Amino acid sequence: PPLYKQRYQFIKQLVSEHKPKKVADLGCADCRLLWMLKFYNCIEVLVGLDINEDVMKEKMHTLSPLPGDFLQPSERSLTVTLLQGSVAHKDPCMLGFDMITCIELIEHLEEKELEKFPDVVFGFMSPTMIIISTPNSEFNHLLPTVTLFRHPDHKFEWNRAQFQNWALGAAARYDYTVEFTGLGAPPPGKDVGFCTQIGVFVRNYVKDEARDHLGKHQECVYKTVFKAVY
Ligand code: SAM
Repeated sequence: PPLYKQRYQFIKQLVSEHKPKKVADLGCADCRLLWMLKFYNCIEVLVGLDINEDVMKEKMHTLSPLPGDFLQPSERSLTVTLLQGSVAHKDPCMLGFDMITCIELIEHLEEKELEKFPDVVFGFMSPTMIIISTPNSEFNHLLPTVTLFRHPDHKFEWNRAQFQNWALGAAARYDYTVEFTGLGAPPPGKDVGFCTQIGVFVRNYVKDEARDHLGKHQECVYKTVFKAVY
Protein backbone atom coordinates (compact mmCIF):
# COMPACT_ATOMS: atom_id res chain seq x y z
CA PRO A 1 0.00 0.00 0.00
CA PRO A 2 1.07 3.61 -0.52
CA LEU A 3 2.99 5.23 2.29
CA TYR A 4 0.18 7.52 3.47
CA LYS A 5 -2.05 4.50 3.99
CA GLN A 6 0.73 2.75 5.89
CA ARG A 7 0.94 5.78 8.17
CA TYR A 8 -2.79 5.60 8.94
CA GLN A 9 -2.44 1.85 9.48
CA PHE A 10 0.39 2.49 11.93
CA ILE A 11 -1.83 4.83 13.98
CA LYS A 12 -4.79 2.43 13.83
CA GLN A 13 -2.53 -0.30 15.20
CA LEU A 14 -1.49 1.91 18.12
CA VAL A 15 -5.14 2.76 18.82
CA SER A 16 -6.02 -0.95 18.89
CA GLU A 17 -3.18 -1.62 21.31
CA HIS A 18 -3.55 1.31 23.68
CA LYS A 19 -7.30 1.99 23.52
CA PRO A 20 -7.16 5.77 23.99
CA LYS A 21 -10.42 7.54 24.86
CA LYS A 22 -9.42 10.99 23.73
CA VAL A 23 -7.49 11.36 20.48
CA ALA A 24 -6.45 14.51 18.61
CA ASP A 25 -4.91 14.74 15.15
CA LEU A 26 -2.85 17.89 14.61
CA GLY A 27 -2.56 19.02 10.99
CA CYS A 28 -5.52 16.79 10.17
CA ALA A 29 -5.91 18.22 6.63
CA ASP A 30 -8.89 16.52 4.93
CA CYS A 31 -9.74 14.50 8.07
CA ARG A 32 -9.06 11.12 6.54
CA LEU A 33 -7.39 9.70 9.62
CA LEU A 34 -10.18 11.02 11.86
CA TRP A 35 -12.75 9.36 9.63
CA MET A 36 -10.97 6.01 10.09
CA LEU A 37 -10.60 6.46 13.83
CA LYS A 38 -14.29 7.09 14.46
CA PHE A 39 -14.90 3.36 14.01
CA TYR A 40 -12.83 2.51 17.09
CA ASN A 41 -15.19 1.98 20.00
CA CYS A 42 -12.64 2.93 22.64
CA ILE A 43 -12.60 6.53 21.37
CA GLU A 44 -15.06 8.95 22.95
CA VAL A 45 -13.51 12.25 21.94
CA LEU A 46 -11.96 12.83 18.53
CA VAL A 47 -10.52 16.23 17.62
CA GLY A 48 -8.89 17.48 14.44
CA LEU A 49 -6.86 20.69 14.30
CA ASP A 50 -5.57 22.41 11.19
CA ILE A 51 -4.54 25.93 10.32
CA ASN A 52 -6.30 25.62 6.96
CA GLU A 53 -10.06 25.73 7.40
CA ASP A 54 -10.81 25.11 3.71
CA VAL A 55 -8.90 21.83 3.53
CA MET A 56 -10.67 20.59 6.68
CA LYS A 57 -14.07 21.44 5.21
CA GLU A 58 -13.53 19.46 1.99
CA LYS A 59 -14.60 16.14 3.44
CA MET A 60 -15.87 17.11 6.84
CA HIS A 61 -19.38 15.86 5.95
CA THR A 62 -17.94 12.31 6.11
CA LEU A 63 -17.63 12.83 9.87
CA SER A 64 -21.36 13.44 10.34
CA PRO A 65 -23.46 10.66 11.83
CA LEU A 66 -25.45 8.58 9.35
CA PRO A 67 -29.14 7.77 9.88
CA GLY A 68 -28.09 4.29 11.00
CA ASP A 69 -26.03 5.76 13.81
CA PHE A 70 -29.28 7.05 15.37
CA LEU A 71 -31.41 4.01 14.52
CA GLN A 72 -28.92 1.77 16.24
CA PRO A 73 -27.53 3.87 19.03
CA SER A 74 -24.42 2.41 20.56
CA GLU A 75 -23.54 2.54 24.20
CA ARG A 76 -20.50 4.65 23.82
CA SER A 77 -20.74 8.35 23.18
CA LEU A 78 -18.54 9.92 20.55
CA THR A 79 -17.93 13.60 19.93
CA VAL A 80 -16.02 14.65 16.82
CA THR A 81 -14.78 18.24 16.65
CA LEU A 82 -12.81 20.09 14.01
CA LEU A 83 -10.86 23.14 15.08
CA GLN A 84 -9.13 25.81 13.07
CA GLY A 85 -5.94 26.98 14.71
CA SER A 86 -2.18 26.63 14.93
CA VAL A 87 -0.02 24.18 16.85
CA ALA A 88 2.01 27.23 17.83
CA HIS A 89 -0.84 28.36 20.12
CA LYS A 90 -2.10 26.88 23.38
CA ASP A 91 -5.82 26.27 23.79
CA PRO A 92 -7.35 24.55 26.83
CA CYS A 93 -9.56 22.36 24.64
CA MET A 94 -6.44 20.29 23.86
CA LEU A 95 -5.89 19.26 27.48
CA GLY A 96 -6.41 15.77 28.85
CA PHE A 97 -5.78 13.70 25.71
CA ASP A 98 -4.53 10.11 25.68
CA MET A 99 -3.06 10.25 22.20
CA ILE A 100 -2.03 13.09 19.88
CA THR A 101 -0.90 12.38 16.32
CA CYS A 102 1.17 14.72 14.12
CA ILE A 103 1.45 12.96 10.77
CA GLU A 104 3.63 14.80 8.24
CA LEU A 105 3.02 18.08 10.06
CA ILE A 106 6.28 19.43 11.49
CA GLU A 107 8.01 19.87 8.11
CA HIS A 108 5.21 22.31 7.18
CA LEU A 109 5.89 24.58 10.15
CA GLU A 110 7.62 27.94 9.83
CA GLU A 111 10.75 28.33 11.94
CA LYS A 112 8.91 30.36 14.60
CA GLU A 113 6.09 27.79 14.79
CA LEU A 114 8.51 24.89 15.05
CA GLU A 115 10.25 26.66 17.92
CA LYS A 116 6.97 26.86 19.85
CA PHE A 117 5.74 23.37 18.95
CA PRO A 118 7.48 21.38 21.76
CA ASP A 119 6.29 23.74 24.50
CA VAL A 120 2.71 23.63 23.16
CA VAL A 121 2.43 19.90 22.40
CA PHE A 122 4.76 18.28 24.97
CA GLY A 123 4.63 20.98 27.64
CA PHE A 124 1.05 22.23 27.54
CA MET A 125 -1.12 19.58 25.85
CA SER A 126 1.12 16.88 27.39
CA PRO A 127 -0.95 13.84 26.34
CA THR A 128 -0.03 10.31 27.40
CA MET A 129 1.29 9.50 23.91
CA ILE A 130 2.47 11.61 20.97
CA ILE A 131 3.21 10.24 17.50
CA ILE A 132 5.24 12.40 15.11
CA SER A 133 6.08 11.43 11.54
CA THR A 134 8.19 13.35 9.02
CA PRO A 135 10.13 12.58 5.81
CA ASN A 136 13.65 11.17 6.14
CA SER A 137 15.81 13.21 3.74
CA GLU A 138 18.40 10.42 3.47
CA PHE A 139 15.85 8.46 1.46
CA ASN A 140 15.31 11.22 -1.10
CA HIS A 141 17.93 10.19 -3.62
CA LEU A 142 16.06 6.88 -4.00
CA LEU A 143 12.97 8.81 -5.09
CA PRO A 144 13.38 9.66 -8.78
CA THR A 145 11.34 12.88 -8.92
CA VAL A 146 12.57 14.63 -5.79
CA THR A 147 14.77 17.66 -6.34
CA LEU A 148 15.18 19.59 -3.10
CA PHE A 149 12.16 18.57 -1.01
CA ARG A 150 9.39 16.05 -1.52
CA HIS A 151 6.73 18.75 -1.46
CA PRO A 152 7.00 22.48 -2.30
CA ASP A 153 5.33 23.44 1.01
CA HIS A 154 7.99 21.67 3.11
CA LYS A 155 10.05 24.14 5.10
CA PHE A 156 12.75 21.52 5.79
CA GLU A 157 13.38 17.78 5.60
CA TRP A 158 15.55 16.16 8.24
CA ASN A 159 17.92 13.21 8.11
CA ARG A 160 17.76 10.61 10.86
CA ALA A 161 20.28 12.33 13.12
CA GLN A 162 18.52 15.70 12.85
CA PHE A 163 15.09 14.25 13.66
CA GLN A 164 16.40 12.09 16.46
CA ASN A 165 18.34 14.95 18.06
CA TRP A 166 15.29 17.16 17.98
CA ALA A 167 13.03 14.40 19.31
CA LEU A 168 15.42 13.33 22.08
CA GLY A 169 15.82 16.96 23.13
CA ALA A 170 12.05 17.46 23.40
CA ALA A 171 11.62 14.13 25.20
CA ALA A 172 14.29 14.98 27.78
CA ARG A 173 13.01 18.49 28.35
CA TYR A 174 9.35 17.52 28.80
CA ASP A 175 9.89 14.15 30.48
CA TYR A 176 8.82 11.74 27.73
CA THR A 177 10.44 8.55 26.47
CA VAL A 178 10.78 8.30 22.70
CA GLU A 179 11.22 5.31 20.43
CA PHE A 180 12.06 5.59 16.76
CA THR A 181 10.65 3.58 13.92
CA GLY A 182 9.51 4.23 10.36
CA LEU A 183 7.69 3.09 7.26
CA GLY A 184 8.92 2.33 3.77
CA ALA A 185 12.06 0.21 4.18
CA PRO A 186 15.03 1.00 1.91
CA PRO A 187 16.13 -1.53 -0.72
CA PRO A 188 18.62 -4.16 0.52
CA GLY A 189 22.14 -2.83 0.94
CA LYS A 190 21.11 0.84 1.21
CA ASP A 191 21.62 2.14 4.73
CA VAL A 192 19.45 5.22 4.45
CA GLY A 193 16.71 4.41 6.94
CA PHE A 194 12.95 4.43 6.39
CA CYS A 195 11.26 6.71 3.86
CA THR A 196 9.02 8.10 6.64
CA GLN A 197 10.60 8.46 10.06
CA ILE A 198 8.44 8.20 13.16
CA GLY A 199 8.92 9.03 16.83
CA VAL A 200 6.53 7.50 19.38
CA PHE A 201 6.66 9.47 22.62
CA VAL A 202 5.24 8.25 25.93
CA ARG A 203 4.88 10.54 28.95
CA ASN A 204 6.97 9.40 31.92
CA TYR A 205 4.91 10.99 34.66
CA VAL A 206 1.32 10.75 35.82
CA LYS A 207 -0.37 14.04 35.16
CA ASP A 208 -2.36 15.40 38.05
CA GLU A 209 -5.74 16.96 37.33
CA ALA A 210 -4.67 20.17 39.03
CA ARG A 211 -2.17 20.84 36.29
CA ASP A 212 -4.76 20.57 33.52
CA HIS A 213 -7.08 22.63 35.68
CA LEU A 214 -4.61 25.49 35.74
CA GLY A 215 -4.30 25.29 31.97
CA LYS A 216 -8.06 25.51 31.62
CA HIS A 217 -7.89 29.19 32.53
CA GLN A 218 -5.96 29.81 29.35
CA GLU A 219 -7.97 31.71 26.77
CA CYS A 220 -9.60 29.71 23.92
CA VAL A 221 -7.97 30.61 20.63
CA TYR A 222 -9.01 27.81 18.26
CA LYS A 223 -12.20 28.23 16.25
CA THR A 224 -14.72 25.38 16.13
CA VAL A 225 -15.52 24.57 12.51
CA PHE A 226 -17.51 21.38 12.98
CA LYS A 227 -18.98 19.35 15.80
CA ALA A 228 -20.88 16.06 15.70
CA VAL A 229 -22.26 14.18 18.67
CA TYR A 230 -23.02 10.51 18.18
N1 SAM B 1 -1.84 14.66 8.56
C1 SAM B 1 -2.27 14.60 7.17
C2 SAM B 1 -2.18 13.21 6.64
O1 SAM B 1 -1.50 12.38 7.21
O2 SAM B 1 -2.81 12.93 5.62
C3 SAM B 1 -1.48 15.46 6.22
C4 SAM B 1 -0.84 16.64 6.75
S1 SAM B 1 -0.45 17.87 5.53
C5 SAM B 1 0.93 17.20 4.73
C6 SAM B 1 0.12 19.14 6.60
C7 SAM B 1 -1.03 19.89 7.23
O3 SAM B 1 -0.53 20.72 8.27
C8 SAM B 1 -1.76 20.80 6.25
O4 SAM B 1 -3.12 20.44 6.21
C9 SAM B 1 -1.53 22.19 6.83
O5 SAM B 1 -2.64 23.05 6.64
C10 SAM B 1 -1.29 21.89 8.29
N2 SAM B 1 -0.56 22.93 9.03
C11 SAM B 1 0.48 23.67 8.61
N3 SAM B 1 0.89 24.52 9.56
C12 SAM B 1 0.09 24.30 10.64
C13 SAM B 1 0.01 24.88 11.93
N4 SAM B 1 0.84 25.84 12.32
N5 SAM B 1 -0.93 24.41 12.78
C14 SAM B 1 -1.79 23.44 12.39
N6 SAM B 1 -1.76 22.86 11.18
C15 SAM B 1 -0.83 23.29 10.31
